[in-house]
Amino acid sequence: MDFMELAVAEATKSQTERPDAPKVGVAVAREGLLLASAHRGELRQGEHAEYTAIERKLRDAPLSDAALYTTLEPCFVRARPKRSCTEIILDARIRQVFIGIEDPDPVFSGRAIQALLQASVAVHFFDRGLQDKILDLNANFVAAAQTVGIGGEPAPHDLRQPRIAAVPATRQIVHLLQRKPEEIYSLTPGQFEELICDRLSEMGFDPQLVGGTNKPDGGVDIIACPRAPVAFPFLLAVQVKHHRIPSIKTGPSAVKDLQAVMLHQPFNVGLIVTNTTFTPDAKWFAMQRPNLVRLRDITDVTRWIKGDFLCDEEWREIPEAIELRPGLVIPVPGVVRDA
Ligand SMILES: [Zn+2]
Repeated sequence: MDFMELAVAEATKSQTERPDAPKVGVAVAREGLLLASAHRGELRQGEHAEYTAIERKLRDAPLSDAALYTTLEPCFVRARPKRSCTEIILDARIRQVFIGIEDPDPVFSGRAIQALLQASVAVHFFDRGLQDKILDLNANFVAAAQTVGIGGEPAPHDLRQPRIAAVPATRQIVHLLQRKPEEIYSLTPGQFEELICDRLSEMGFDPQLVGGTNKPDGGVDIIACPRAPVAFPFLLAVQVKHHRIPSIKTGPSAVKDLQAVMLHQPFNVGLIVTNTTFTPDAKWFAMQRPNLVRLRDITDVTRWIKGDFLCDEEWREIPEAIELRPGLVIPVPGVVRDA
């Protein structure tokens, strides 16, 4: 069992004080050796797992070369005199943090991650399978966090002001992003999914959202077909990856998940859209089967927001020519490339 799995196993043992409190598990390790593990409420009701592991179990241990594995993005603010787990991690000088899921509260999502990155802490994420387990385990917490805000302590008021006033209709989001492109990072994952649906519709597709943003969905968020009437329609599977921080890239697990879906479901083309960029690994995996999964990043989405769908860049996965058998090279019609 690796430390991410161990953290998830710990999370299942959480003693939660309310039905909508998060179930959180933590492991602290150094050079492959477990130093401590903990779960929420383990030693005291309501006690956060990071606090239990770092401040109670590893009180005097030097942790500057240890890695922390936590199933949930650490809390970012707590009412004084309590310190947030983000502060506790930074005070312990932990340099490497693995996070299961981002805080589902749209107001806080990504804030701790940003604070850790700004302090030069390396931040990594658990893989999708484990993230789905964590989301399942925390269904009540996630639902509560996304509707009424954070389930824990009330936050300072200024932090609770969303940067986009209400939840604007998708077309208003498009207009907002045309004026203020940087607001794309403030969208909720659900708003970003709806934005991509809207753009697909503008491109001539009939898109359908698959389900709630944080439900396990087998790697597919949107399905779409070219709008009828059309000859030889095809079925498109879209996975949407929204990050609140531009420097967080979409990794290879997204590509592998969608490739697996493509092999077992009647989709003809797969598309992963992110509001940031892809890691080199993610691009490498996609390139191995360019006919299965295409990647579209912030550059493409920015173009789509402007209504430009017919750019040559959209043809980048399609070769100029194919060699059908040795020596028989056929140019692919319609592919126009700059010399
Ligand atoms: Zn905490």
